Amino acid sequence: MAAKILDGKAIAQKVRDEVREGVARFAAAHGRPPGLDVLLVSGDPASVTHTRNKERMSNEVGMRGRLRALPAETTEAELLAFIAELNADETVDGILVQLPLPSHIREHRALGAVDPAKDVDGLHPVNAGLLALGRPGALAPCTPVGCMRLLAEAGVQIAGARAVVVGRSNLVGRPIAELLLAQHATVSIAHSRTRDLQAICREADILVAAAGKPKLIGGDCIKEGAAVIDVGQTRNEAGKLAGDVDFDAASARAAWITPVPGGVGPMTIASLLENTLRAAEARVAAR
Ligand code: NAP
Repeated sequence: MAAKILDGKAIAQKVRDEVREGVARFAAAHGRPPGLDVLLVSGDPASVTHTRNKERMSNEVGMRGRLRALPAETTEAELLAFIAELNADETVDGILVQLPLPSHIREHRALGAVDPAKDVDGLHPVNAGLLALGRPGALAPCTPVGCMRLLAEAGVQIAGARAVVVGRSNLVGRPIAELLLAQHATVSIAHSRTRDLQAICREADILVAAAGKPKLIGGDCIKEGAAVIDVGQTRNEAGKLAGDVDFDAASARAAWITPVPGGVGPMTIASLLENTLRAAEARVAAR
C-alpha cells in the first residue's frame, strides 16, 4: 500500500480561511477583531521567529495580533503583573506565553497566571483538567488540535479505533490522547519506559508519534492501513527537520501519513488562530 499524504500546508490554509471568515463575522458583530497577545521573554532566536510568525499570521486573518517582547531580565513578578494587565484588558481574547521561559521564571507560575478563558495555548491547569474530564469547551493545546483536524480531513474513523500515542508530554502526547479518547478511540500512551514499543504500535489504527526521536518508528511498527501522524520535529546538523517516523518504510504500509516538514507543523499556528477565535466568541457569549 502506498500511503496518501496528509498535506498539512493545504489543510492549515483551509483552517486559516475559515478563521478569516469567523474573524470578519466577529468584528462586524462586536466592533473589534479578536485580539491575540503573544508574550516573549527571551532573545532566543527560534522563539523570536516563532512569535513573529504568530503575530504576522494572526494579523493576516484580520485579528489584532501583537507581539509583546519583554527583556530577558524581566522578573517573574513583573511577568505575572503584565499577564494580569492582559487578563483585565477586554480587547485581549488570547494570551500565549512563548516557551521556553528564562530559567529564573517558573513556567507553571506564568502559565497558571493566564486567565483560563484566554489560554489559547491550552496549557492552564483548568483547561488541561477540563480536557481530562472530557468536558467540551476546554481550550486544548494547538498541536493536538491540529492533529485531530488532520485525521478529520482524511475521514479517518476515530470511534472504536485503536490509537497509540508515543509521547506523554503535557504539550503534545497527553492532550492528543485525551482528544482521541473524547472521540471514543481506545487509546494507549507509550513513553520512554514502554516495553516492546513495536508490538504496541503495530496494533494502532491511528499512530501518533510525538517523541522527538528521529526514525524511532520504523516500518515494522506500522499496522497495514494505519493513519500515521508524525509530530516529531528534530533538526539535524545540516538544519534539516526530521520526524519520528521512517517515512518511506511507513508509507509502504500506512493508508495515511503526514510528511515532515509539511504535515503537523503548519497546523499548529492555524490551530492557535482557531483557538483565539473560539476564545473570543466564548468570552462575548459568557457576558
Ligand atoms: P518532550 O516533552 O521531550 O516529550 C517527549 C516524549 O516522548 C516523552 O513523553 C518521552 O517519554 C517520550 N519518548 C522519548 N523517547 C522515547 C522512546 N525512545 N520511546 C518512546 N517514547 C519516548 O517533547 P514534546 O514537547 O512532547 O515534543 C515531541 C516532539 O514533537 C518533538 O520533536 C517536538 O519538536 C515536536 N513538536 C512539534 C510540534 C509541531 O508543531 N509540529 C509542536 C510541538 C512539539 P518520557 O515521558 O518517559 O520521558
